[in-house]
Amino acid sequence: MSYFRNAKIIYLRYGNCVLRYDKCVTLALRYGKYVGLAAAVCLFLGGSAMAQTTGAGAAGRAQTAQPLVSEQTLKQVSDHVYALVGFPNIAIVVGNRGTLVIDTGLGVRNGATVMRAVEKVAKGQNLYLTTTHYHSEHTTGEQAFPPHTVLIRPVVQQEELIQRLPQHMARFRDMSQQNKELLQDVKLRTPDILLDGEMKLDLGGVSARLFCLGAAHTKGDMLIFVEEDSVLIPGDIVQSKLFPIMPDGEATMKGWLAVLDKLEPLKPRLIVPDHGELGDGSLIGKQRAMLQELQGRALQLKGEGKSAEEAGKLLTAELHAKHPDFANVERIAADVNLVYAEAQ
Ligand SMILES: [Zn+2]
Ligand SMILES: [Zn+2]
Repeated sequence: MSYFRNAKIIYLRYGNCVLRYDKCVTLALRYGKYVGLAAAVCLFLGGSAMAQTTGAGAAGRAQTAQPLVSEQTLKQVSDHVYALVGFPNIAIVVGNRGTLVIDTGLGVRNGATVMRAVEKVAKGQNLYLTTTHYHSEHTTGEQAFPPHTVLIRPVVQQEELIQRLPQHMARFRDMSQQNKELLQDVKLRTPDILLDGEMKLDLGGVSARLFCLGAAHTKGDMLIFVEEDSVLIPGDIVQSKLFPIMPDGEATMKGWLAVLDKLEPLKPRLIVPDHGELGDGSLIGKQRAMLQELQGRALQLKGEGKSAEEAGKLLTAELHAKHPDFANVERIAADVNLVYAEAQ
């Protein structure tokens, strides 16, 4: 079974033009080059082992249990945007006719908490769900949403999810008993709308623009801009006081900086990052400054003939001393490796 065959609506970009198709089968027949893509997606789905992947037992290891999503943290950010503040921050955009939820939390239990918060603030009957990228804490609660939920996801993110989410869930299960329980029996939904290009979602009195700007934190990062309120929900691309995590082959420091350059002209009034404190538009510049500092210092050390390993150790100490309130210090060495690889 193919996600493409099941998706009710597909948006495809041809140059500057966005085409909408209501049936993927028609699409595959008419446009031969997409047949291969659909077939590839079928292949990734082979065995449908998504929910069966298991990590090694967490017993005997250090337990890292991220806090559960809590309804108590629900706050209004702007006229139409609410946020559940936690791991991760989850944004809810409320219009007169419909509600858009951005990300799900880790596993069905967190997803159910998100849904209870949605019920408190929603006005209209229509419910949309989208995910900023494939990582477990952003996607694996989707089965808690009611059947009428319309799931929207970029094509590139969906393919990446099928390829990489089982491994990512295994890493999370390995962190703690709590995570293991949260990620039991994860059942993923079939997207109702697969997006290639951007989409404007009219929720009644407020609209959300869903768009991708290229690979950065992951290959399929998506961002959401709530135009009327000038609120940006950037996923993990703009974070608050965190050193960057670039876990897969597709993550790129150069790409991430290029995405931030494209984002700057939006000049959002407020930003709801998926991790870290909520802030104003200056978070984009702060994120860029930190990436540039990391990249610039790594290239400097490379120019001085230091190995990637030496540079990783030096910069871990240096940047931690300079930014003592930033989390993910342990990621700096891997970031430096990536900068060295990109400079080849
Ligand atoms: Zn992430
Ligand atoms: Zn994340």
